[in-house]
Amino acid sequence: NYVIFNGNIIERSEANVDIEDRGYQFGDGVYEVIRVYNSKMFTATEHLERIILSAKKIGMELTYTVKEMKELLTQLITKNSLEHGTIYMQFSRGVAPRNHPYPTSDVAHSFVAYTKEVARPLANLENGVKAILKEDIRWLLCDIKSLNLLGNVMAKQEAVSKGCYEAIQHRGEVVTEGSSSNISIIKDGTLYTHPASNLILNGITRRKMIEVCEKDGIPVVEEPFSLNDLNTADEVFLSSTTSEITPIIQINEKQVGEGVPGVLTKRIQGLFDAAIESECGS
Ligand code: PLP
Repeated sequence: NYVIFNGNIIERSEANVDIEDRGYQFGDGVYEVIRVYNSKMFTATEHLERIILSAKKIGMELTYTVKEMKELLTQLITKNSLEHGTIYMQFSRGVAPRNHPYPTSDVAHSFVAYTKEVARPLANLENGVKAILKEDIRWLLCDIKSLNLLGNVMAKQEAVSKGCYEAIQHRGEVVTEGSSSNISIIKDGTLYTHPASNLILNGITRRKMIEVCEKDGIPVVEEPFSLNDLNTADEVFLSSTTSEITPIIQINEKQVGEGVPGVLTKRIQGLFDAAIESECGS
């Protein structure tokens, strides 16, 4: 099993992270998760452009281009004979004596990537999942895919401890996003989802979903929606790289719609499947 460690492909057992890596001590860095289907990366360019942008937003100028990262990740997929799974990658600001201010710019970023075999979540896609509601207590730069995930981790843990799959977060009355996904609702045939702003991560799955809906004539409204809108929605679903388009059939104790995956959600799943197939084959 091989990993990328500071630009080289090496055995995982040989990759050693320094205890003063700023990713480890401060969560000072950015990451991405990319899906691999049939040994091909799905929406790789979008993910790699986003990690460059996330890095820029925290004052890190990555030294890799999209093309260079793509080539390296493709080599890793081949080396690990990965068919269906995910790539996790992260850049931290690097290794330096622990001190809050950024180290000087000659400190190299730490770049790590590895692969994992993961099957598509077929049962969840088919049957849907349950969610809880949770006040969004995170910081105000949620558009950055930063290594600081404590708010997200705590929200997810609360969901899991209650037998649920996801925590739908809200700032007061406004629904923002899941702990590791974006949230959309369907009301009277229209899809509503929070606009890309500092309050959510602009998911690559979310963007692809909007693209396929618009092409198929499903109206999409990117506007904040309320807890009341959520509670009275016909359909609710989450979207993310690993969970794809997953129906939400129950929120807290209340069933969504008929308590089964909705018609439009299923249609969007089909459109999303077609997008995967056209990019990665079937
Ligand atoms: N929002 C948060 C907080 C996430 O962690 C994720 C993905 O893990 C998403 C949204 C969905 O983003 P994407 O579709 O790019 O995976």
